[in-house]
Amino acid sequence: MSSFLNSIGRLRGGPKRSPVHSPSTNQQGYFDPLPSPGAEFTGGPPSPNGQKPLYLCQPFVKAALVKGSFKTIVAPPKYVDVNEWVAVNLFDFYHNLNHFYGALTDFCTLQNCPSMSAGPTLNFLWPDQNQRMVSLPAPTYIDFVMSWLQKLLDDENVFPTKSGREFPNSFAYTAKHIYKHLFRIFAHIYHAHFEQILHLSVEAHFNSLFAHFLAFGKEFDLLAMKDLMTPEGMGQGVAGLSDKWREMGILEV
Ligand SMILES: [Zn+2]
Repeated sequence: MSSFLNSIGRLRGGPKRSPVHSPSTNQQGYFDPLPSPGAEFTGGPPSPNGQKPLYLCQPFVKAALVKGSFKTIVAPPKYVDVNEWVAVNLFDFYHNLNHFYGALTDFCTLQNCPSMSAGPTLNFLWPDQNQRMVSLPAPTYIDFVMSWLQKLLDDENVFPTKSGREFPNSFAYTAKHIYKHLFRIFAHIYHAHFEQILHLSVEAHFNSLFAHFLAFGKEFDLLAMKDLMTPEGMGQGVAGLSDKWREMGILEV
């Protein structure tokens, strides 16, 4: 066990900042995203006749996805504490997503993405210094999330790496919260940047990462799809992708 902990310590003791993404700090006075930032739906429910997003089209919808392969990789190895397992996976999801986003920063600009969109009429909001929910450009929003997350992952009180230290009782809550934010970034990338993902020929890797993320989130009850549901109960953006993968048997129902 101690060698496992040590290896996590080494893992997490890696670069303090990702080489591809250098988030700024929250200098502008925006609050950390606790307890929960909001979402807004504009212009009513999306038209059912609207054009199907590319990521739902063949062959992209099933690029590199193998039926039934995700259940086994999300299960914790024998004798490993569940909190440790969730922590290591959160760390990996954060870094992998950060790398993908790093390749998209030329496209995810203030001009191209003036809001944190994740569906035809869905924007995610962020609390300002008065705790009012405001719309921010996607790169600013994502920068805030990544900075907040990096700080959290480096915090020994939240993610203990030293042998003998316990996870705090609030860890499950924190993990859920982190998951929500990573999910929003996935949702924005699929909605706004899937064409660039195709251009970079990384759709197979990106689909695999997201399917792994969904399967892991379901296994450990970290995922809240309701973020993508309109008040009328219609799913937007990647909600459709998750449904599709369940239909195809790639993810468990
Ligand atoms: Zn963007």
